[in-house]
Amino acid sequence: MTDPHSPASETKPPVGEADVVAGLAAVRAGIRQAAEDAERDPASVHLIAISKTVPAEHILPALEAGQRLFGENYVQESKAKWPALKQAFPDVELHLVGPLQSNKARDAVELFDVIHSLDRLSLAAALAKEIARTGRHPTLLIQIDTGNEDQKAGIAPDQLETLLVECRDTHGLTIRGLMCIPPAQDPPSPHFALLARIAEAHGLPILSMGMSADYAAAIQMGATHIRVGTAIFGARTHKA
Ligand SMILES: *Cc1c(COP(=O)(O)O)cnc(C)c1O
Repeated sequence: MTDPHSPASETKPPVGEADVVAGLAAVRAGIRQAAEDAERDPASVHLIAISKTVPAEHILPALEAGQRLFGENYVQESKAKWPALKQAFPDVELHLVGPLQSNKARDAVELFDVIHSLDRLSLAAALAKEIARTGRHPTLLIQIDTGNEDQKAGIAPDQLETLLVECRDTHGLTIRGLMCIPPAQDPPSPHFALLARIAEAHGLPILSMGMSADYAAAIQMGATHIRVGTAIFGARTHKA
């Protein structure tokens, strides 16, 4: 007799609708647990579902399950996927979490509600110009390279003060928070703790930190926005 619970009898389909809904439910439960452990209100942690490389038909079940905050890495990909989805779900809030080239600032300001990756004055200038032109005011976060390890993106913590002042005084831009991606080889918690300290020192309310592997630690350290892709949508089939 075959055991119906044996792994062999489970034909696991490729990531589909049910998987996305189950992944989302598991992450929501994980957020509740981590918030409870940290004695925080789970409602103070906002889940951004990172849908880079995920086709629209796999984003739909998450939208139908009530998820409204989504994050993408690429402006071009987002332009192809999101206008139609936003038409069907107008209260979607779209976050750009990947690096932004200044020549894509126009599209970024038109499409995104929150930009997490501001990391240089030239980009602030390009964004300010498009904000003035369109009247759209995406929420802006500065990306910090907490590892100080010459990552491609993010500024060193000791450059934040200067960039904040220049954004404000030169371009009239208000920065609302900070984002970080800890180096893959490091334990993440010290990076999250550092980001939280820097944000607090500058009175910045939004803390974007924590991904599939480490969002519980980020919640422990005060994350207000976590960015979770794989744990909801499954492993990305092509390189992000
Ligand atoms: C891809 C990505 C994520 C999500 O990573 P997962 O490990 O799939 O959860 C979060 N933040 C940024 C900036 C990303 O590029």
